[in-house]
Amino acid sequence: MALETARLEQTSTELLQQLIRFNTVNPPGDEAVAQAFIQGLLEENGFKVEILSRDPKRPNLIATLEAPNKQDGPTLALLTHIDTVLANPDEWQVDPWSGEIRDGCIWGRGAQDMKGQAAAELAAATELVKAGWRPESGALKIIVTSDEEAGGGYGARWLCEQHPEAVRCDYALNEGGGNQFVYNGRRYFRVGCAEKGPCRFTVTTHGAAGHASMPRLGENALLKLAPLIEKLAGKQPRYDLTAEPRAILTALVGTDPGDNPTQEELEEMLSEVRAVDERLFALLEPTMGVSMSPTIVEASQKINVIPDRASVRVDCRVPPGHGAELAEQRAREMLGDGDYEINFAEAAIGNGSPHDTKLMDLIRDWVGKVDPDAVALPSVLPGFTDSRWFREAFPDVIAYGFFPQIEMEMYDSDPLMHAADERIPVQDLTLATEFFAEVVPALLG
Ligand SMILES: [Zn+2]
Repeated sequence: MALETARLEQTSTELLQQLIRFNTVNPPGDEAVAQAFIQGLLEENGFKVEILSRDPKRPNLIATLEAPNKQDGPTLALLTHIDTVLANPDEWQVDPWSGEIRDGCIWGRGAQDMKGQAAAELAAATELVKAGWRPESGALKIIVTSDEEAGGGYGARWLCEQHPEAVRCDYALNEGGGNQFVYNGRRYFRVGCAEKGPCRFTVTTHGAAGHASMPRLGENALLKLAPLIEKLAGKQPRYDLTAEPRAILTALVGTDPGDNPTQEELEEMLSEVRAVDERLFALLEPTMGVSMSPTIVEASQKINVIPDRASVRVDCRVPPGHGAELAEQRAREMLGDGDYEINFAEAAIGNGSPHDTKLMDLIRDWVGKVDPDAVALPSVLPGFTDSRWFREAFPDVIAYGFFPQIEMEMYDSDPLMHAADERIPVQDLTLATEFFAEVVPALLG
């Protein structure tokens, strides 16, 4: 079913402007007004809408359009969150809640993350229904969550734990992919198939307190910590290659690193990428294994007291399927032997979905139509999204991040998330709307 591009453009643009104008900065979130608007829109278009909330001010919306013979087909969920991070208007060229159109882009907090995708999904679904489309088998769900930016305790996480039947699905399309880059003249679209797990830890050193006026009488824990922090500079831990970066390296370098590549082999392949594009190297490297960034240091509370205890907190992300054990092993390799403790405050295991699926085939076909030379590549996200909770609750779900953009390369679109002057080209919003309008009937008939 081919819908008219001009119409998809108009509907998605107007919708995004409206969504941006609802201030859903989280905290506090305040998603209720935006959700009521979306509920009205989807009910008008024949969807059955259910609102589920842990807190009435933080509602989640589940809209369903079922085939008469629903049992015969899959359930596809278009997944989106409606909350955003904060915006400081002083840093912006436009009002972050204006939805203003300037230079061919729609500007505002959430344009990329992820009201743009919400608008594209809603526009595609409502225009399909207006054109007479209904699923022939299975069901289409539109799931709009609250509270993604603060961890999903009122949103996806809570939904998947407390109301799994309401959100159960076979396929989910979410944020976390669809952005693209050009490498050696060829375009690559990333498909978010997996996510790393945050395993944050603290490194602590101990000494003996003393008066700071007599440095030799105490044992300064901060000075014992400093060389450990140094060891985290520059080099990252040795790589632990998983399926997605393996697929990316294979595509970019032209040879498969195999099941058990050595550190040297991987370094060599990465340096080939680095020689072509330093920016791509900087984004690719953290997906190759455990990453570590020291971010917070604590020692004495008083200027005149030598600290008996000092600590550095390290934001550490571990490849999908691994947890704190691998993080600690890699941390000890980096820090070496010594008098320190490692403690984990948070250890989550990242998860992923398989690559050889009907949904991936449909994405590949669509990419081939947009740019016959382009390649769709499974990728792993260094951060995490609501997909994590869905994969945890429904181990068989195929959840991908895919919100295609072509006018803006990933080097331009990625830095706009959570930043000032967040915006999306109208052309890209339209392209994404066309993608959803094509993939939904292709999967559900
Ligand atoms: Zn997001």
